[in-house]
Amino acid sequence: MASAADFSLGKVDVALTPRERFAEFLQARGKRITRQRQVIVDHVSGHHEHFDAEQLLADLRRTPGGANASRPTIYRTLTEMVDAGLLRKMVLGGRAVYEHDYGYPQHDHLHCTSCQKLIEFSSDELGRICEAVAGQHQFRVRGHRLIISGLCVDCRTNRSKSRHQDRV
Ligand SMILES: [Zn+2]
Ligand SMILES: [Zn+2]
Repeated sequence: MASAADFSLGKVDVALTPRERFAEFLQARGKRITRQRQVIVDHVSGHHEHFDAEQLLADLRRTPGGANASRPTIYRTLTEMVDAGLLRKMVLGGRAVYEHDYGYPQHDHLHCTSCQKLIEFSSDELGRICEAVAGQHQFRVRGHRLIISGLCVDCRTNRSKSRHQDRV
C-alpha cells in the first residue's frame, strides 16, 4: 500500500516559449502575431490563474501595453490560444474560464459553486480508471476533464456561521 495519496501537480518541460509556439501556430495559418496579440499572450503566460475574458480585459487595461486592448481582439486571441493548445477553456456555471494548458500538467478541479474558487489536483488513480473504462470500449484516451462541484471550506464555514446567526 502506497503512502498518503499525492494529488500535487508535476512539472512539464517545453521547448518553445508560449509566444514562440503561438507565432508558429499563427504563421501556419498565414497570420501574424500582431502587437496586440503579443501583449495578450505575454500577459496571460506570465500569470497562472483561472480567468475569464472580462477579467483579462480589466487586467490588461491597467498595464501600459494593454491600455487600449479591445474586447473583440481579446476574445479572438483567446480562441486562437485555445486552438494553438496554449489555453484550456472550461465552462463553469455558464462562465467561460481559461487556464494554461501548454507546459502545464494534466489536472482536474474542485469547483466551489458559491465563491467560484477552483482547486487543482492530479490523480494517477483517476487516469487508471479512465484507461480501464476506455479499454472496455476499445476507446483510445486523449485526455479527460473532471470537475467536482461543491462548497469549499471557507464557504462552508461562512454558511454555518450565518446559519448560526440566523438562529440568534
Ligand atoms: Zn467557496
Ligand atoms: Zn486548473
